[in-house]
Amino acid sequence: MSAATEQAFAPSYAQARELFLQAAQARGLVVDSRVHPLPGRDGEVMAMDVVWDGPAQASRVLIVSSACHGVEGHCGSGVQVDALRRPDWRPTPWHSDVAVLWIHALNPYGFSHGRRTTHENVDLNRNFHRFDQALPDNPGYRDIHHWLIPAQWPPSEANEAALQDWVDRHGKAAFQQAVSGGQHSHPDGLFYSGRAPTWSHQTLRQVLHTHAGHARHVGWIDVHTGLGPSGVGERIFACKNDASALARTQAWWGSKDTPITSIYDGSSTSALLTGLMWSAVEDECPQAQYTGMALEYGTVPWTETLWALRADQWLALHPQANAQQAQHIRADLRRVFYTDTDAWKQQILVQARQALAQGIAGLSQA
Ligand SMILES: [Zn+2]
Repeated sequence: MSAATEQAFAPSYAQARELFLQAAQARGLVVDSRVHPLPGRDGEVMAMDVVWDGPAQASRVLIVSSACHGVEGHCGSGVQVDALRRPDWRPTPWHSDVAVLWIHALNPYGFSHGRRTTHENVDLNRNFHRFDQALPDNPGYRDIHHWLIPAQWPPSEANEAALQDWVDRHGKAAFQQAVSGGQHSHPDGLFYSGRAPTWSHQTLRQVLHTHAGHARHVGWIDVHTGLGPSGVGERIFACKNDASALARTQAWWGSKDTPITSIYDGSSTSALLTGLMWSAVEDECPQAQYTGMALEYGTVPWTETLWALRADQWLALHPQANAQQAQHIRADLRRVFYTDTDAWKQQILVQARQALAQGIAGLSQA
């Protein structure tokens, strides 16, 4: 891999932001920075940085976003920086009615602090509910929360045996659904959906309204990590359960080698989720035809990921933990969401460049 390619990925949020801003500036693009109210881990400014890349009046908009889940932003930011530096990934000639809307760090707090959640301890991709209506219940999570996040870490053998007994009785699929499907009952728990819109939720709505409120067609590639085989970019359908949207997503991005998987029919590595982020497009861009996917890159086996998430949540609740243990837990969380090797990064970029070009082509023909 070339040094330039490798350097598209950054070891910290502050450095990732700098690379993104530099790449946009080098292309003469204007950055719309929505500054987060809190300072970053190292005291740096945190922001959701938004760049419009294309003709000002374009009505076909491809959103490419990173760090919905904070720490997963090491990957998504690398994808964005690589493309901004290498405009040759685009089809030429450039369609006069197509623009790319780069959204860097949807959840800058989680990216900066090396966590998956927002500063409200919320999973941003479970937070897009109508909070004036009844919220979905997750009784499975209520069953297992006290074992997932025990008072001591590492957990006791008895704790793990009890958790395993639940899995044995209900099955692995039910376990994944209970853990990761989203829950409103435990604000101090994992995959918490929140009880109000988070800062990132509200800010993203404003960004969509401002930059894509006029669009007739919206495409969206939202980059994630942590599920599936290492380095493989699973293309997960990210629209409402609608046959015509699925058909468009398959036409743009699907193939024998890159099938479109879905949470609605059980074909994706992800559980069935609610409160998903893409639903904001329906409200903020109501006139647009919407086509989108999550590009979900595998890292390590899910059992390792879950162990690291549990430890990280325990640490968030026990800030007095000794420094060595805290450092180990933080490093492990990053490891399970970001494989810091040249080979993995190369796999990421090859697939991302293809997906971006396919998104542009799909919009061009929409
Ligand atoms: Zn994610």
